[in-house]
Amino acid sequence: MKIWPSNGYATVTEPGRRAIRGAALLAWVALACASCASVPTSPAAPSPELSAARTFAEAGLVDIRTLVPDISQQIRYAGSENFVGVPVEGYGAARCYLRESAAQALQRVEQSLRQEGFRLRLFDCYRPARAVRHFVRWAADLSDQRTKARYYPDLDKTQLLGDYIAPVSGHSRGATLDLTLLDCRGADGQCVPLDMGTEFDFFDASANTDSPQVTQMQRDNRQRLLRAMAQQGFRNYPMEWWHYTFASHDSQVLYDVPLE
Ligand SMILES: [Zn+2]
Repeated sequence: MKIWPSNGYATVTEPGRRAIRGAALLAWVALACASCASVPTSPAAPSPELSAARTFAEAGLVDIRTLVPDISQQIRYAGSENFVGVPVEGYGAARCYLRESAAQALQRVEQSLRQEGFRLRLFDCYRPARAVRHFVRWAADLSDQRTKARYYPDLDKTQLLGDYIAPVSGHSRGATLDLTLLDCRGADGQCVPLDMGTEFDFFDASANTDSPQVTQMQRDNRQRLLRAMAQQGFRNYPMEWWHYTFASHDSQVLYDVPLE
């Protein structure tokens, strides 16, 4: 959820929490993402606007399970298995809401993957603005280091605020989600997560989608997810293999309807 500072509240906000290290990789991202909404193109980009919507209907957000009732979900911020270490504010229920067009596109991704023996697993979708404020409070509390070993072992917590944790997330717009792939081709019919090289929300360069620090097999798994998502119009954030935004959603409006 990196934020690019400007003369005010916020400009661009995609939730990359990981600075890319190394000039070569940075140059690659600049090229790959020249038209990408996750990278600021102007320091004068408009500040996001917070919607007054009080319900999901008002916000135009739909529960993905109304479209795919059996989609796999592991909404981490609704429980304690996340970098904050406790349920995050606004996550009163483990549900995935998205803007309708994004939800329909995700349904097509799932349908396509199932034909090949794979499925999606969702980690996070629409994120209430109050949850992002909780992240910021957590990042500022340097006395709380409980999740360091699992989520940011090679960073000092002082490096998270500003560089990795910021006041605005693209997730709050309702067209961004975090997810991985399940392999359901086994003889026993069970679906198991593909090895992506790092876990979700691991604050490290090895989480960059094209990181040379992971194995070829792990990069291939990331690319399988990327291809399936790209076919339906989702764009990956190169710093996080799990993070995708529905490209045709261009509203800057943020929502703060809690998940219940
Ligand atoms: Zn994300």
